[in-house]
Amino acid sequence: MDSLDPALTKKLKDGYLTNAQNTSLSEIAEILQVAKQFSVAPISGFHVGACAIGASGNIYIGANMEFSGAPLSASLHAEQSALVNAWMHGENEITDLHVTEAPCGHCRQFLRELNNESTIRIHAQEKTYLLADLLPDAFVLDPKKNYGLLNTPPHKLEAIHSTENNLLVRALNAAQLSYVPYTLNPEGCILECSSGQLFSGRTAESAAYNPTVNAVICALNQRNLSSHREEAILSAHFAKLATGIQSQASLNKAILSSITNVVIETLLFEFC
Ligand SMILES: [Zn+2]
Repeated sequence: MDSLDPALTKKLKDGYLTNAQNTSLSEIAEILQVAKQFSVAPISGFHVGACAIGASGNIYIGANMEFSGAPLSASLHAEQSALVNAWMHGENEITDLHVTEAPCGHCRQFLRELNNESTIRIHAQEKTYLLADLLPDAFVLDPKKNYGLLNTPPHKLEAIHSTENNLLVRALNAAQLSYVPYTLNPEGCILECSSGQLFSGRTAESAAYNPTVNAVICALNQRNLSSHREEAILSAHFAKLATGIQSQASLNKAILSSITNVVIETLLFEFC
């Protein structure tokens, strides 16, 4: 991280810039290079940076993440990283997505989940596209769901057994904002770092399943884009559906054990 622009890095302390409406294209190019340096790619050595421009005027960076020892399917791509970062900060619409490489098919499919997937402008390698240019005849499920990744309605969830554990309660709260229109299987995750800083994650599904970003990857992304990225993770707390037809538990364990040894605690919930 030595070569990061110190002023820009300081401004990007939590992975985003506020009031950035007047950011020029040359400044975007600089932000992309900074974003790229947040990439963690121990398997491919291939580093990608992205940034998403929010309708609010905020800019959210993204970078790819790979996990040694975990399945390749756990990899997070830079475009997904930026979109999930915006989502976790409460952004309601992304107008533009800039990326240092052409988006792969996996990311094009994930972009389909945005509420404004038909209007978002995608900028890569000095060209600008609409998603329909990059993904004609797209695979779509339930086009009448009337919401997308950035404007999903909250789920009403209730713990099976009450708990005094504040981190489990936070994980339940995170799960309530999952975007899971295809499996209705929300999950929340809270990672606790050595400074006491907490990172929250929740599931962002794709209709094609594989591009889905699960809750622990979502939380690890927020940690990686923050100034706490080097801190040890002390604990991982999850909240998951008691009757879920699928489970992320084994993948969660594989991903976390590739980074750190932590005890995983889980709260089970059901829909109210
Ligand atoms: Zn991709």
